[in-house]
Amino acid sequence: MADVFGKKRSAVQRALADDPARPYYRPLAARGAEVEIDGRTVIMAGCNDYLGLSTDPRVTEAAARALRRFGASCSGSRVLNGTLTLHEELEGRLAAFVGGEAALVTTTGFQANLALAALLDEGDTVFADMSNHASLVDAVRLGSADHRRYRHSDLAHLDRLLAASDPAAGRIVVTDGLFSMEGDLCRLPGLVALARRHGARLVVDGAHDIGLLGPGGRGVVEHFGLAGEVDLITGTLSKCFGSVGGMLVGPAAVVEHLRYNARSVLFSAAMPPASAAAALAALDIVEAEPERRRRVFDHARRLLEGLRSLGYDTGDSTTPIVPVYTGDTRLCLRVWQELLDAGVFTNAVVEPAVARNRALIRVTPQAVHTDGHITRVLDAFAEVARRLGPVPAAPANERP
Ligand code: PMP
Repeated sequence: MADVFGKKRSAVQRALADDPARPYYRPLAARGAEVEIDGRTVIMAGCNDYLGLSTDPRVTEAAARALRRFGASCSGSRVLNGTLTLHEELEGRLAAFVGGEAALVTTTGFQANLALAALLDEGDTVFADMSNHASLVDAVRLGSADHRRYRHSDLAHLDRLLAASDPAAGRIVVTDGLFSMEGDLCRLPGLVALARRHGARLVVDGAHDIGLLGPGGRGVVEHFGLAGEVDLITGTLSKCFGSVGGMLVGPAAVVEHLRYNARSVLFSAAMPPASAAAALAALDIVEAEPERRRRVFDHARRLLEGLRSLGYDTGDSTTPIVPVYTGDTRLCLRVWQELLDAGVFTNAVVEPAVARNRALIRVTPQAVHTDGHITRVLDAFAEVARRLGPVPAAPANERP
């Protein structure tokens, strides 16, 4: 085994070493509701393009026009030369859409979350859900605040941690809005109440819910009717908006602080022109075509019901992030390969994205899937159940 700077292989690298499944870094030769992989056309049931906008001609045409007008790159960071009229327009539109005084657009959603480090100083304490996205975990690592983690969506645990903390410290509760792997919603009403009671601020990462949830697609905050109750919202343009980029939406003074202090923004190149224009075009569609949201939720309901009746454990999801638990990593890889052989591309999600014993196949429908696509996905799972026998239910979520 070649030396890798003295590092050990990860758990998934070890599992892949003697397993024929190849779920990661698979090159796709075309994209959309169906994709081409190794010369075969399969259903794409494993990407975050929930509304199907990344290949919508209105979005791709807007990107092409911006590419011709502004070039392929901003060639620098937002703070110096990399701010375009397009970025400002997008920030104004996103602030109004998500519901905040101001917005800052970043190059990726990961970068938007890392920007939070500029709000996390020594003496502050962050209270974070154990299932939060890696980028939120890393933001806390980059900052100097204390990091307390509460068990996934366990409000009583959060309450105890808040009660035991120093009321004079800056206290910030951070959560995903829609949990990215397991598809369950954060318990926002309870989180808002706890944050208010303890005088803490609340930050929600709306990466998966902005564009998807709520009658207007404004996200988990709109879904729960809690507009104005969250102190800062982060998000991405790489999922419902079919582009790439991130956002931070909140009070003007907070956004201004981030503009001058967030190192992930200050010292990295700006979101490219084509991506900004694509996101603007997508936002028009997100606002104008609520039927896309209805359609993807109809598909999700069909998948959840169908999978449960086949005996699969889909956990607490009620959303278009449909987890199918296998528990065991090797079984996850096996199921993933069987599904691909049956013509369906999904995501094999294993440690560290989820706890070791909670490996899952993530299935994500898109608004551009037909009813026939969803039938074929369910048929593929039925075939897997016939070949492999019942897949066991997942153990409870107890991340370290
Ligand atoms: N937050 C969550 C909850 C996510 O799922 C993701 C993407 N997987 C991100 C942030 C990062 O977004 P991006 O892909 O735009 O960097």
